Amino acid sequence: MLLKHTTKEVADRKALMINPAKTCQPIGAMYAALGIHGCLPHSHGSQGCCSYHRSTLTRHYKEPIPAATSSFTEGASVFGGQANLVQAIDNIFTVYEPEVIAVHTTCLSETIGDDLPQIFDKAKKDGKVPDGCTVLGAPTPSYVGSHVTGFSNMVKAMAQLAEPTGVKNGKVNVIPGWVEPADMGEIKRLAELVGVDITLFPDTSGVLDAPLTGEYSMFPQGGVTIPELKGAGDAIGTLALGEWCSADAARWLDSKCKVPCTILDMPFGLAATDRFVDVLRTVAGVNVPDTVTHERGQLVDLISDMHQYFYGKKVALWGDPDQLIAMTEFLISLDMQPLYVVTGTPGKKFEKRIQEICADQPFEVKVKAKGDMFLMHQWVKNESVDLLIGNTYGKYIARDEDIPFLRWGFPILDRQGHQYFPTVGYKGGLRLLEKMLDLFLDRKDRDDPEQTFELVL
Ligand code: SF4
Repeated sequence: MLLKHTTKEVADRKALMINPAKTCQPIGAMYAALGIHGCLPHSHGSQGCCSYHRSTLTRHYKEPIPAATSSFTEGASVFGGQANLVQAIDNIFTVYEPEVIAVHTTCLSETIGDDLPQIFDKAKKDGKVPDGCTVLGAPTPSYVGSHVTGFSNMVKAMAQLAEPTGVKNGKVNVIPGWVEPADMGEIKRLAELVGVDITLFPDTSGVLDAPLTGEYSMFPQGGVTIPELKGAGDAIGTLALGEWCSADAARWLDSKCKVPCTILDMPFGLAATDRFVDVLRTVAGVNVPDTVTHERGQLVDLISDMHQYFYGKKVALWGDPDQLIAMTEFLISLDMQPLYVVTGTPGKKFEKRIQEICADQPFEVKVKAKGDMFLMHQWVKNESVDLLIGNTYGKYIARDEDIPFLRWGFPILDRQGHQYFPTVGYKGGLRLLEKMLDLFLDRKDRDDPEQTFELVL
């Protein structure tokens, strides 16, 4: 009974957040930066911030997360962090030899008002940035937005490296949003099957799911390269998967480099994956091959086999807006009932979008942006559900209320292997279905009396 003090009565709270369903901006910026090949993320702030960001990512991805810090002390906190950052850039290129340093700010450096572009100029003028190396930066003040905002800001900084030549290169930019390394790999595989040459950024596949070889490499083989990012300005189009994580970068490329963009939902579930494949083939002017149609048919087959178990099941889910939007649509397509949807990321348009997806359904959805896990628990206490879907922080509710729990999203701190198994695309849909049904049937096996306990379900 870890959350035994959660009350059923929902009070109107404006100035109090209890267990927010989000984390801080720089964590998202750090994750995005790891999707650049040869990149060392750098936290422009105090050591404590950097340690927290690294440890959160390490606990989720089960990989060492390399990152440097400007290591603010009292002096930098009062007079600004320029000297620390210029020194850090010099040290990092000298000692660790990355190709890229991706700097994000913190609450402290933002409050001081440190100007990253001006500091980068000084570092270049002082000869601290070796030829052929890149320094980029994103503002990530954590007192606004969430880790999703930080991810989006760093992805936009990556897009701003584009150097259009005026000659189209025939490639399509795909901005995957915050998904697992395996999801990024799956998006690349799907695009390859369709026959479209894409630039995926960021791309953490091959970085945070790299093999154990016996030798430590600070910069694994994966990640989008700087030449690829420069070429993003010559692409024939950009597909941004997710309004919150990816759209800003895509719109910047559209307005500044004349690369037309399409904003899509993340490809979780059948319909969202169909839209992704359809826009991909339209932009590239190709036909969908039989191999992709075959994979789609397998997902349709499994949905029809499992539908009897999913029908009418009530679900509570929390996490990040882009994931929740696609997952809510997927659950409704299975005739399930996503009753409660909470994100810690602010944005009333999220609530509107979820309400639109759930319109005309035989239930009323409760949805909250800038919400917290306390509210989610209160809703569940008032009317329980059959399934919880979300990150690790829901395990207390699952235990207290004895509800099956599908860990999905970020962070997952208490299970392993998730970074290797995609949940995007048709193949990912199969995995989501299997995991959900296992939870329902395990619960049935646990609770059935002997007279209805069956071998075949
Ligand atoms: S001070 Fe700000 S940036 Fe640092 S860990 Fe806390 S919320 Fe994140």
